[in-house]
Amino acid sequence: MRKESIVKKQMLQYITTILICVLILGGILSVVYTQHYMKEKRNELIQQGRKISIAFTNAYRTGNLSNLSYELQVLEEYMGAGILMVNADGVVVLASPGLDEMMIGQSFAFQDLVEGVKEGNIVSSERKATTIFDVPTLVVGYPLSVGKMAGIFMCRSMPEMEQSLYQMYQVGVASIFVVFLFAILFSYLTSRKMTRPIKEMNDAAKVIASGNFEHRVEITSNDEFGELAKSFNHMAESLQNNDKTRRDFIANVSHDLRSPLTSMQGFLTAMLDGTVPLEKQEKYLHIVLEETLRLSRLTEGIVDLSRAESSKIILDESDFDLNEQIRANINLLEPQLNEKNAVIKAIFADQITMVHGDIDKISRVIQNLLSNAVKFSPTGGLIEVETTKTDRKKVLVSIKDHGIGISPEDQKYIFDRFYKADRTRNQDMQGSGIGLAIVREFLQAHNEGITVKSTQGDGSTFVFSLKMSEE
Ligand code: ADP
Repeated sequence: MRKESIVKKQMLQYITTILICVLILGGILSVVYTQHYMKEKRNELIQQGRKISIAFTNAYRTGNLSNLSYELQVLEEYMGAGILMVNADGVVVLASPGLDEMMIGQSFAFQDLVEGVKEGNIVSSERKATTIFDVPTLVVGYPLSVGKMAGIFMCRSMPEMEQSLYQMYQVGVASIFVVFLFAILFSYLTSRKMTRPIKEMNDAAKVIASGNFEHRVEITSNDEFGELAKSFNHMAESLQNNDKTRRDFIANVSHDLRSPLTSMQGFLTAMLDGTVPLEKQEKYLHIVLEETLRLSRLTEGIVDLSRAESSKIILDESDFDLNEQIRANINLLEPQLNEKNAVIKAIFADQITMVHGDIDKISRVIQNLLSNAVKFSPTGGLIEVETTKTDRKKVLVSIKDHGIGISPEDQKYIFDRFYKADRTRNQDMQGSGIGLAIVREFLQAHNEGITVKSTQGDGSTFVFSLKMSEE
């Protein structure tokens, strides 16, 4: 498919809009202006008529009519209009020098206008070309009330007037053209400016898609594009983190898989080739068994998580006593607690706390949180487990340790799969960073959530919620 450019589309939109506006505006203005122009011209002729009427009346009264013809000539040249004087019988008695002299003594061609002025009205009319006027003419009649006169008629050639109108229009069209050129230039520049961020983001997306997750776009504006750029960078950061987590995980998992395999290989080879005396074989077989258990725990975790993440968690829900599950999980941790000389103290809201959920999954949540608390506690540390009931038919379970704590930066990611805080990496060779991811997925499947509060060096508190059973 042919690539369509946004710049072109936007320009086309701008230009069409401007063109439509200019055409509508131009049309309205030209109609209004033409009407105004014609009205002006008509008024000028009326003024002229008034002047002649005064001059004629004065001349008639003083009996000095000799100058009249000269005055008509001057006015005719000045105004560009022919002047006729018509008597009450509708006969032309005087014509300015520019007009055909043959008209004098003839009946005036537009008797309807003569009737108008005879009634004392100022009349005006646009007339087509006739035998008297070989071009269309604007005729304005002004009444004259001396002697046996009917009125004065000023006749102005329409094409002449239109000529100056056309000149005005030409200037108008030329300026519209210039404005239009500017509009094209302006729309091109603004369209380009508008689409530049999109192009930059597109380029950045390609760079990121090719595997360079460090690439970011520059945020230059505070508008929707700025917002988009921010979201884009945020997305790039998430991708970068995911990529880092994935790499770390592969590194961790391969390390975790390789080390037990190598040691098992070593022990088994030694036993087979007889390097290990028979009486010591049992001890080594136990070590091998430990290692296989560790391997299966790791693979189980990965399988659990992938199943949970592809939202295939099927809950087997029932009502059960939460206290009992907590106690059972504390018992399971006894070897680790003894090793660290650590203590778990449980404070229950009630003798029995009945909750509703999948017993195995909730148990796993408790187990993961407790074993983390023990793992990251100092020797002789105290871990507190507490349940509280809320009036919203929920039970809150908090698991608090006084261990190394989690930095605010790490707190954002610890629930992500395969994430291990840098500082704990050496301390916790066994972990693969999936325990908390499983916790979150299992709780989410129950529509419940988990939060963490932690101060580095001071310990962490994880709190999650459960539904109280109906009874
Ligand atoms: P793992 O399965 O390896 O224990 P988790 O998902 O349970 O991984 O935990 C992820 C990371 O979160 C741990 O590697 C550790 O850095 C941090 N973390 C979890 N719980 C605690 C805690 N109680 N105290 C300090 N750090 C913790």
